[in-house]
Amino acid sequence: MQALKPAVFLDRDGTIIEEVNYLKDKNDLKLIQGAAKALKKLNKLNFLTVLVTNQSGVARGYFDEDNVSVINNELKNILNKKNANLDAIYYCAHHPNGTVEKYAKQCNCRKPATGMIDNAIKDFENIDIKNSYVIGDKFIDVELAHNAGCKGILVKTGHGIEEIKKNKGKAVDYIAQDITDAVNWIEKDLY
Ligand SMILES: [Mg+2]
Repeated sequence: MQALKPAVFLDRDGTIIEEVNYLKDKNDLKLIQGAAKALKKLNKLNFLTVLVTNQSGVARGYFDEDNVSVINNELKNILNKKNANLDAIYYCAHHPNGTVEKYAKQCNCRKPATGMIDNAIKDFENIDIKNSYVIGDKFIDVELAHNAGCKGILVKTGHGIEEIKKNKGKAVDYIAQDITDAVNWIEKDLY
């Protein structure tokens, strides 16, 4: 059996890249300041880095799955050029009220449901979920963490600040300024 390895599950929009409503043009893709360095630090700390992103724009008919892949690949390339690595990318294209029939359903992968993390656990076989983290700009990311049995960090970038206002009193393990602060907190949390 392989040794267990903790993972950091990262939200995409508002966490690694600037929030753009339903991003579909790769020219609008812009890294949040410090994101590549933060990811590189997670690589160095020996975490698996796994992107988990809700992309209901597919179910809503705003763009298709190919479009999501183009953006995700572009993101991977930009990060790779800065020597930062994402080990895997998972996305959910569904929404219960979608207009595209194929994707209009209640699924088990739309955050805060754990389907994407469940798939990562199956694919990697050695994820140490109890010592893993989720970083995201919405409370669904924090809820995802708790549903999966790991720690949840909310970042104030993207929708973060309005989420904090809307969700007073909800459980969260740490509120970070941004992904850099989140990763620094994780590093301290290890000891
Ligand atoms: Mg987000």
